[in-house]
Amino acid sequence: MQQHFIDNRWVAPASGQYIPVIDPSDGQQFDAVAQGNAHDVDVAVGAARAAFDGAWGRMTATERGRLLQKLSQKLLDHTEELAQLESCDCGKPLKQARADVQAIARYFEFYAGAADKLMGETIPYQSGYTVLTLREPQGVTGHIIPWNYPLQIFGRSVGASLAAGNACVVKPAEDACLSLLRVAELTAEVGFPSGTINVVTGFGHEAGDALTRHPGINHISFTGSPNIGKRVVQTAAEHHTPVTLELGGKSPQVVFADADFDAMVPVVVNAIVQNAGQTCSAGSRVLVERSAYEEVIARLAQAFNQLRVGPATMDMDCGPLIRHSQLQRVAAFLDEARRDGLTVAGAGQLVQGAPEGGFYQVPTLLRDVPPSHRLAQEEVFGPVIAIMPFDDEAHAVKLANGTEFGLVASLWTRDGARQLRLARQLRAGQVFINNYGAGGGIELPFGGVKASGHGREKGFEALYGFTVLKTISIKHD
Ligand code: ADP
Ligand code: MG
Repeated sequence: MQQHFIDNRWVAPASGQYIPVIDPSDGQQFDAVAQGNAHDVDVAVGAARAAFDGAWGRMTATERGRLLQKLSQKLLDHTEELAQLESCDCGKPLKQARADVQAIARYFEFYAGAADKLMGETIPYQSGYTVLTLREPQGVTGHIIPWNYPLQIFGRSVGASLAAGNACVVKPAEDACLSLLRVAELTAEVGFPSGTINVVTGFGHEAGDALTRHPGINHISFTGSPNIGKRVVQTAAEHHTPVTLELGGKSPQVVFADADFDAMVPVVVNAIVQNAGQTCSAGSRVLVERSAYEEVIARLAQAFNQLRVGPATMDMDCGPLIRHSQLQRVAAFLDEARRDGLTVAGAGQLVQGAPEGGFYQVPTLLRDVPPSHRLAQEEVFGPVIAIMPFDDEAHAVKLANGTEFGLVASLWTRDGARQLRLARQLRAGQVFINNYGAGGGIELPFGGVKASGHGREKGFEALYGFTVLKTISIKHD
């Protein structure tokens, strides 16, 4: 049974209650995590505040960077252990879990290097004045993490926040706590002062809500569903707590007839199969120029038909979904597609010997999906692509921008002028041209517009979100 990690030690939940931990590959319970409540959150926020006011807050940016670099190496040294934990807890095929460990280590490496390069400015002003700006840490930051990429999302948000000098309280998703508890323990081993990084596990409506409404929290970084994101902003408004929101997407891959199909097909397939489609930036819509429509469908269908789904340990293309309710949700979308007469152009298969109770969904390619259909508008969060044709550039842009989301988009075309013309017209936080960055790109600012959220994570840009700018005006003559 796992406890909270607060103030560099294991702390039992005040409630005395624990939440079962389920292996999605077979549906069986194999552990339990603490069910945190408002009391536990309050203790964690107190520990973080003491670290910020104490040993951690006194460190120089260079010292912070060195600790972050030590943590990065420590994580790499524990690659296999962390990958196994993540794979068992979340159902990720081992290869993908190992990639997640590489990514969290890379986040800490990147932010280690950035820690002492975050600078203010001097501003030309009236004569007799010198004006300068300081980028100061906000204080204690709260991090609400989803279950799809616990390690990566911890790396990107906690990494940036620590580099900027904040102390952190992390609330992992109730389905995916184990790897983050171990990471927290490793932060203590490399020498982060007590209270710098605290992990409180529990349900969103209980521990997550308590973190969001805590007056001692100076910033909330939330990654999750649009509905909960909205609620988090409303709750945080009570204390005017700023919120960074990274919500979902219905990201389009726009394929023109002049594209390099050999290069495009594996990337488009990976962008929906990775993590069984449970990726905010999954490329879940494929828009194809009408003259190449049948050829692109045929190529994608051929690739989909070869995909295999199985338990995490078998390391297939696709693992199980996170939990039974997620499987039901995806199945309901596919039932609706069937009822409305949508055509399945290609589908993967469940591998032989997959355990009975696992939450398996085969990757499915749906063709001729009407742009207004739920499958073309809503986030499925499973390995399902909706494919549809377009007639010309204007039509492609209209379809690409025609959902409530705006996270990522890609353009597949060899025409350089078209690449830039269209990249400017797409309403998305990231546009990829002849590539697609689902999950990757530690260095690249990431975030959405519209219902996909606001604020930027990843890259150097994220550091600004975790600081407060102070302007100092000095009159000297
Ligand atoms: P999903 O539906 O895919 O599980 P959620 O948005 O519900 O996505 O979950 C993302 C994170 O938000 C999780 O850590 C979850 O526990 C947390 N969460 C859920 N509800 C709330 C809430 N009311 N307040 C704060 N955090 C919440
Ligand atoms: Mg689990």
